[in-house]
Amino acid sequence: MKDPAAEIQTLREDLRRHEHLYYVLDQPEISDAEYDALMRRLQDLEAHHPELAAPDSPTQRVGGKPREGFVKVPHSGQMLSLDNALNEAELRDFDRRVRDLLAGEPYRYVTELKMDGLSMAAHYRNGQFVQAVTRGDGLVGEDVTENARTIRSLPLRVKTALEVFIEAFEVRGETVMNRRAFERLNAERDERGLSRFANPRNAAAGSLRLLEPQITASRRLDYYTYFLLADGRPAVASHWQSLEEMARMGFKVNPYRQICDGVEQVLAFCAEWEARREQLPYEIDGVVVKVDSVEQQRRLGFTAKAPRWAIAYKYPARQAVTTVEGIEVQVGRTGALTPVAHLKPVEVGGVTVARATLHNEDEIERLGLEIGDDVVIERSGDVIPKVVRVHAQGSYRKKFRMPAECPVCGGKIVREEGEAASRCINTNCSARLKESILHFASRHVMNIDGVGDALVDQLVDRGMVPSVADLYGLTVDALMALERMGKKSAGNIVRNIENSKKNRLPRVLTALGIRFVGERTAVFLAEAFGSMDAIAAASLEELQQAEEVGPKVAESVFQFFREPRNRELVERLRAAGLQFTYESTRPKYGPLKGMTFVLTGTLPNMSREDARRLIEVAGGKVSGSVSKKTNYVVAGEDAGSKLDKARELGIPVIGEDQLFDLIKVD
Ligand SMILES: [Zn+2]
Repeated sequence: MKDPAAEIQTLREDLRRHEHLYYVLDQPEISDAEYDALMRRLQDLEAHHPELAAPDSPTQRVGGKPREGFVKVPHSGQMLSLDNALNEAELRDFDRRVRDLLAGEPYRYVTELKMDGLSMAAHYRNGQFVQAVTRGDGLVGEDVTENARTIRSLPLRVKTALEVFIEAFEVRGETVMNRRAFERLNAERDERGLSRFANPRNAAAGSLRLLEPQITASRRLDYYTYFLLADGRPAVASHWQSLEEMARMGFKVNPYRQICDGVEQVLAFCAEWEARREQLPYEIDGVVVKVDSVEQQRRLGFTAKAPRWAIAYKYPARQAVTTVEGIEVQVGRTGALTPVAHLKPVEVGGVTVARATLHNEDEIERLGLEIGDDVVIERSGDVIPKVVRVHAQGSYRKKFRMPAECPVCGGKIVREEGEAASRCINTNCSARLKESILHFASRHVMNIDGVGDALVDQLVDRGMVPSVADLYGLTVDALMALERMGKKSAGNIVRNIENSKKNRLPRVLTALGIRFVGERTAVFLAEAFGSMDAIAAASLEELQQAEEVGPKVAESVFQFFREPRNRELVERLRAAGLQFTYESTRPKYGPLKGMTFVLTGTLPNMSREDARRLIEVAGGKVSGSVSKKTNYVVAGEDAGSKLDKARELGIPVIGEDQLFDLIKVD
């Protein structure tokens, strides 16, 4: 018999090679079936030999345990945002500034396609992927390691010949969703009555930050790298060479890049890709132009908010003019009516569109839109575009009026003061009830497989589920009375409903459908209060103690629990056995736990407020005055008396770089 350790080793290497061929180079050598067979063999061996499991095994791509919260992590050095050039003249201005500052020295640019996604840093130690952090505000991002692990084009293990990267390095790049995956995802969401993602960027960001890495895995994200850093700084002398090195290491680097001698070549590159952008399988919104030499980059330096050695050339939006032939109204879960424009079909950026969302009455009024008008529509990735403005009034115009009665149930339509949306106020409106049940059962929420449109239509139309809580009273016999429902599927559905009782409190909170309380806010509420009852009893002020909960969200949560019907729903769900308490698993410690810092002077790259936040996120405290209890004084330029005091007391004085070292990601 073969040695299992050796076979596992060989399988992993083979799978890694095929992964790279398929997902990074797009040149598969074996069929999907052959790949699956290798993967199954490896999964099987690992299942029988748990002692041989490894985090960088290709089997780990499927997404492990759900994350239990959102953990913030400081970046090794600020993640940059670039200035924009909106036209040729602005790009030429940029080039002139570079030329002037370099005072006649020769220089060259590297041009790369600007992919429209979410920036993310990925950290490697000894060649092994260890952590991924979203851009966040550039200084502090969110730990998405488990989600990133599921991205097939992000290598879990790499080899490098360059000494400086062997122990540790970091890549930065863009997480994107290609058009096909995006369209598939939206089609799936339509089917399940969920709102569509507006564009691939939102879809990529939403997918990467999910609490369930398994769902991220199903979203087919891609990761393209464009920075290679050691210790938070570029470690290869030329940007172009660092791109080449990343490709050698096995990262996916966009192949459409070029070295340009001078601004004319840059402009030609921009023009070429503006014409070809629709042929790409993913969205781009421009071209990034960087000075190639890292040494020149260093001398060019930064303005207050962006590097002087790089710029993003942005393409204009994709728009078209067409006629609004009618406006239809759709009823959502909260009873909100959404007007949708029916358009004379028109091609925008290679896609034929026939509908555009109008959001609400105010939007129609703001646009001054009437049926029959010609409008400018704009696509930003999605096939459902938005109306930008009225282009020309139609010769036969008709004003849109929000119906006085619900198009589904005939109930009264009310628009409350200060609200943009008109709503059907009939809480028993079948359209609302159906949407509520679909929301409750959806994968992100209670995850009840089998409860989709067709089933919910029947359940509501037959009066079997007058409230979402009635789902928990459904029996196999009752379900079998429905059309196209056999004993087996009925049994599965009842079992799935039963299993949903194990969902933790944040999901139960999300399931209630409280306005403004999504997956993320629900986690913060659960973290802050620990139980449904504590949240229900909290005052407006107390609610705002929870992370990211402002007055608007607090008001919505507070009012929800004051409504007798909602109270009744909550009690029925409690009786059904849902999880109403929560144990936080969020780490409460950081690398600076127990340390006190004093900030003084002007730091080179960040404001004092940023530095304070960075320290606090890492578990440290910031104090206003130096004492014997101070661990470090972080001093910048023009530091004053605090610095003298620190020296007097013998407190260590450090700079911004050393602060980053103390809280270094590992
Ligand atoms: Zn209605």
